Amino acid sequence: MGKTIGIDLGTTNSCIAVVEGGQPVIIPNEQGGRTTPSIVGFTAVGEQLVGDTAKRQAVTNPTRTIISVKRHMGTEWNVVLDGKKYIPQEISAMILRKLRKDAENYLGEEVTDAVITVPAYFNDIQRQATKDAGRIAGLNVKRIINEPTSAALAYGLNNGSQQKVMVYDLGGGTFDVSIIEIGEGVIEVLATHGDNHLGGDDFDERIADFLASEIHRQYHIDIKKDITAIQRVREAAEQAKKELSGSKSTTISLPYLVQNGSTAVHFEYTLTRAKFNELICDIIERTVIPVQDALNDAGIAPSELGKVILVGGSTRIPAVQEKVHQLTGIVPSKNINPDECVAQGAAIQGDTLSGGTLQVYGTDNSILLLDVTPLSLSIETVGGVATRLVERNSTLPIHYSQVFSTAAPYQRSVEIHVLQGERPMAKDNKTIGKFKLNGIKKAPAGVPQIEVTFDIDANGILKVSARDLDTGKEQSITITNNERMSDAEIEQAIRDAEQYASQDQLRKDALEIYMKAQQLLSKVDQAVAVAGKKLDKPEKKQVKSDCETLRKLSKKQPGKASQEELDAMKNAIQVLEQSSANVCEIFEKMNQDAQNG
Ligand code: AMP
Repeated sequence: MGKTIGIDLGTTNSCIAVVEGGQPVIIPNEQGGRTTPSIVGFTAVGEQLVGDTAKRQAVTNPTRTIISVKRHMGTEWNVVLDGKKYIPQEISAMILRKLRKDAENYLGEEVTDAVITVPAYFNDIQRQATKDAGRIAGLNVKRIINEPTSAALAYGLNNGSQQKVMVYDLGGGTFDVSIIEIGEGVIEVLATHGDNHLGGDDFDERIADFLASEIHRQYHIDIKKDITAIQRVREAAEQAKKELSGSKSTTISLPYLVQNGSTAVHFEYTLTRAKFNELICDIIERTVIPVQDALNDAGIAPSELGKVILVGGSTRIPAVQEKVHQLTGIVPSKNINPDECVAQGAAIQGDTLSGGTLQVYGTDNSILLLDVTPLSLSIETVGGVATRLVERNSTLPIHYSQVFSTAAPYQRSVEIHVLQGERPMAKDNKTIGKFKLNGIKKAPAGVPQIEVTFDIDANGILKVSARDLDTGKEQSITITNNERMSDAEIEQAIRDAEQYASQDQLRKDALEIYMKAQQLLSKVDQAVAVAGKKLDKPEKKQVKSDCETLRKLSKKQPGKASQEELDAMKNAIQVLEQSSANVCEIFEKMNQDAQNG
């Protein structure tokens, strides 16, 4: 099996990684860069440029350059160039094709399998569009995973203790903050907020505007009118910004920037970090409300956070890091490059999916569950009831067990009827599997302990097993996604469940009343037979009469009883519970005494 690469398909930049020698490593692009601008350009002669080359010609060729296509994923947006219409999936596919090629050059083999990350807030349509883009690029998208989840994987947090983590992601053009909960093998996004138009580009623009005003002040020239000059200023602004992440001041030098009459302007300016901070402080401040909203939605205080992870190139800015510290009281983790950790996490997930092992984090190769079950899963129990073991929308992977017993005395086998759907009665749900557990130890009804376990892995493959806890006998079946419901069937099932909700509830209530009546009658009959002699005559007569009343009322089929008849049964149950309390207590005591010898 070939390698599965991890792709962080970003708004501004994209990054690819792969697991090699048990470690996630970043795959450099053709130009040696560790990230690739998510930019596509079409030259006048129809040549397609992707990445750094597209970025370089962006200013001089703005109408034929597409930036931030990620913002359009899942929308009706399109662009027409040279008479051909391109939809977002196709533009994204061009970026993905370039990334795939870079990966193939690096690995020296064909690459088809990939895990691609998306923002946690992406809806189904946006996720599907991303998957389709991958398919157009010739990739088999094994999984779409959430960016904050991926970052957490890169930090190896899935192998640590259970905790809640904040992922603060400030990239080139977007800001996302997510609160995630990490459990055993499961990472769940609890809340996510952000601003789709906030990021490093805004910082560059502030510096560029400031420099333009300086040039105007010194030379009375408006460079904004000169497309090449302003492009150079913008590039210098970004460069200065990056340098200020490591040093307290930097000198911007732009020789031959513009002509001032007959002389060339050689512009130079020393920008300090303090001045830069002053220029951008209100932009950083705009991240505060989303952080607070995310914490509120997750229902936690900053003090409950175990860690804060920084993602996105702009989190290298010291003032951003200080703001995050100030907001959470936690020094953010930054031991993995913030612009690389999402791709690294995707590579780790890809490696896990293709059966690799990561020594670096000492994982046991347990698959991470990042998906959810579309419908509830249940088994049929007494009276045709669908007893739920897994709720709809539960996060995968799932391991859940529940102990059941037999309904009839000396029953030697049970049938496990596995169902999918939202309806309370078994017959209204879809049967997805059936199997028998034989060889149950001979015992009265309700005594054997049959443990039924549902295991669903990250790929949605369900294994149901049943085990007699007494004899250790076990039987199981495996049900793959294909045998489960199609998308159309799932939608129909959800619609049906809503439509029949009240009717179903009524039937379920009726059945419960009937079952309660049967159990009570059987218990009281037994108690009266064994301990009846200890009662005085009127009490015994009363209990027997109350039993008869309830027995008569429960003659009708549960589905045919009217609401009045059900109410009468409920009432009769209550009456019998009261009148038989004494005899039942005596019976239980006799039983206990007998057990104690
Ligand atoms: P991303 O979308 O995560 O690739 O982030 C890209 C943004 O991060 C761009 O605006 C970059 O200018 C910015 N960036 C990259 N490196 C640094 C750095 N050292 N300091 C400040 N910003 C940076």
